[in-house]
Order: sequence, then structure tokens, then C-alpha cells
Amino acid sequence: MDDFNGLPPTAPLIGIVRHRLATDGQGVTTLVAFHGCTLRCRYCLNAQCLDPAKVWRTVTPQELLDEVAIDNLYFLATGGGVTFGGGEPLLRSAFIAEFARLMPRQWRITMETALNVERSHLEQVVDCVNDYIIDIKDTHPDVYRAYTTREVALALDNLRWLLDRGADMAHRIVVRLPLIPEHNTPDHVAASRNRLQAMGVTQFDEFTYSIR
Ligand code: SF4
Repeated sequence: MDDFNGLPPTAPLIGIVRHRLATDGQGVTTLVAFHGCTLRCRYCLNAQCLDPAKVWRTVTPQELLDEVAIDNLYFLATGGGVTFGGGEPLLRSAFIAEFARLMPRQWRITMETALNVERSHLEQVVDCVNDYIIDIKDTHPDVYRAYTTREVALALDNLRWLLDRGADMAHRIVVRLPLIPEHNTPDHVAASRNRLQAMGVTQFDEFTYSIR
């Protein structure tokens, strides 16, 4: 968390992508990708988020708002807003909470997250996030550890905590379940889906990673 001494939190970015439609949230969205992640996925698509030398820019919430507000009319007309990704956006929870306080109330916030962070990060933003795209990867502990270098238990605990927050939460969560070459199988994916359905997840995005 970058919030200290009463100064506004700042956050390092790797990119901003405007005018996304139906790819990562409702309506027209602007993707804001943060630098930094708790995981080290073997096939990370945004590997620059793991390289300290690859920070693109560092911004305050107000600076980001001033920039993304150029698409305010698109957001309002389509019910869209800002999608925070990365990297792991929940590592920037103080920043996102402050951004949400400043932004127009009609904008939606979508979080693209692996959920593998301390619970305090999630608690800080849960009241301002509308939708979650959760990259759970695979629920088998060995598969997850081999692919990400971390434990899946923390991500699953956070997912359970989110689902326990109300009946409507399941409608606001999409869980990504990739088939990962050399790491899991269709049987693993099916087992993950069954386990997550038993927890209350209803929406899944299943696909296959293409590796070069
Ligand atoms: S969680 Fe996403 S950003 Fe982080 S290492 Fe894995 S693929 Fe990369």
C-alpha cells in the first residue's frame, strides 16, 4: 500500500487501454494496469508488471481520474467505467479506494484479480467494486503452486469471504479457469469448476492458454 504521511496514495502503472467493449466489464471500459504482482505465473501475459525497470508512469488517483474522464460520456452511455488489472490491482487498494471516492458515482469499477493478497486489501475496496473477474487458475494446490509459486488457499479464502457477503455477489463474479499447457488437464479444470460451484460460484470463463 502506498498511502503514508497523509499524502495521496500513488501507484505505478504499466499501461492504460481505452475503449474496450465487452472484454473486461460492462459497457465501454478503460483498463488501468498496475505494476506489481504477488504471483510469478509461468506464462504471465504482462511480464513487465514483474520487472522493476518496467514501470511506465506513477500517478495519483486525481491524475488518473483527470486522464480517464475523457471517456466519461462513453461510460455514462453504456454503463461502463474503469477496469483495474495488472499485475495485481488489489495491491493498490488504497489508491483504488481514493479513486472511487473522487470519480462520478455512475461509473462502474471492475477488478481483474487473482485474489492472492492479504484480506485487508480486499476489505479496503469491497464497497466500491461492482464486478470481479477472478483469475483463480486452478484449485489443485500442487498445480497452483507449480504454476504461480504461491499457495491457492489464500485466494480461495478470499473468494469464500466475497461470496459470503450476500446473495447478489455470485452474479458479480466471473471466475477464470484456464487450461494451462504442461500444468493442468481438462480433468483438473472440471474438478476446479465443481469445487467452485460448491462454494457458490455461478459464472465461469474457461479457455486455453496459447503459449508461444
Ligand atoms: S497473476 Fe497475472 S499478472 Fe500476476 S504473475 Fe500471474 S499472470 Fe502475471
